[in-house]
Amino acid sequence: MCPVSSSRLLLAITIIASVVLGFLGVLYLLVAGLKQMYFWVGVILIGVALVLVTVVYKSLVKPPPITVYWSPSGEVKLEELKCPSCGAPLKIENPSISRVVCQYCGRAVEIVEEPKW
Ligand SMILES: [Zn+2]
Repeated sequence: MCPVSSSRLLLAITIIASVVLGFLGVLYLLVAGLKQMYFWVGVILIGVALVLVTVVYKSLVKPPPITVYWSPSGEVKLEELKCPSCGAPLKIENPSISRVVCQYCGRAVEIVEEPKW
């Protein structure tokens, strides 16, 4: 399974869920005058929807995964850095770090960079 398409699907589901939950939350708040309990149900639903929206926002802001190429010995041979667990390309935000967490499966991957000189 391609990890990008599955994360897109998850994103779409999250967006739909947040819209539905937010809508239900507003509905419950509207009928809160009838029963006190509905008020808290509405608050909880809207709260969950806000959390989902935050998750979606963060995943949208996150730049697309970049492919990192290593050329350890200066040869033309390029090696793509992939997650050993799910095969997704690993994104390295800070070149100085030696460990990166796969954004698809959450597995921490150690990066051993060979000297270029
Ligand atoms: Zn992975």
